[in-house]
Amino acid sequence: MRFVRLVHGGIESWASLVDDATARLYTDAPYRGGTATDRVVPLQDTLCPVTPSKIVCVGRNYAAHAKELGNEVPKEPLLFLKPPSSLIGCDAIIELPPESARVEYEGELCIVIGKSLRRASVAEALAGIFGVTVANDVTARDLQKKDVQFTRGKGFDTFCPVGPWIETDALDFANLTLTTRVNGETKQHGFTSDMVFNVGVLLAYISQSMTLVPGDIVLTGTPEGVGPLASGDVVEVEVSGVGVLRNTVR
Ligand code: ZN
Repeated sequence: MRFVRLVHGGIESWASLVDDATARLYTDAPYRGGTATDRVVPLQDTLCPVTPSKIVCVGRNYAAHAKELGNEVPKEPLLFLKPPSSLIGCDAIIELPPESARVEYEGELCIVIGKSLRRASVAEALAGIFGVTVANDVTARDLQKKDVQFTRGKGFDTFCPVGPWIETDALDFANLTLTTRVNGETKQHGFTSDMVFNVGVLLAYISQSMTLVPGDIVLTGTPEGVGPLASGDVVEVEVSGVGVLRNTVR
């Protein structure tokens, strides 16, 4: 099943896709006990499909990407946070900030948490997943290097596009293809089988230090091929079996 969030009648609502053009409204987020209503509405005025309390990200989780930036593969997952204020949905604009001369895309598989996870085992972590979606971990590479801490370079408003929907059907997280295109040209083509730390290990590891609560999201790292974005670019991230996240840069 695919879940979206949209504005209908001036109210932000959860909904499940019925077909390409319509969606069924839900009473609340499905991971908070929301249930389907009998109201089917046009699929329009969609929003970012997630409303996390925190966005946990994993750095250097594909060996070839760590290498292309001159970094070693970490011995334990390398974690950082992006602020929820950086979220935008599919088709929204990524804004280039004047403070940076080098803003780059990072296409990533995004996990959406469905159950509270605190010091979870790998099996508990996997059982706590609500679904998956697609993310672009937009990064001001020059500021990331200059600041050492990732907070500013990864945290600008609009630097976390997520969408277009949450896919809740069971997927084999270790066998997905991740493709990033800029203006139609393929820039990244990676496989989640190449992750240094797999999804279950990542979630269990994160939950040792911070409780993951329903709705939280985890960006699982980017494969090789990162590169710059310029005003007017259209950047698309596609995860096989999930969908295409498309944003324009300005
Ligand atoms: Zn990233």
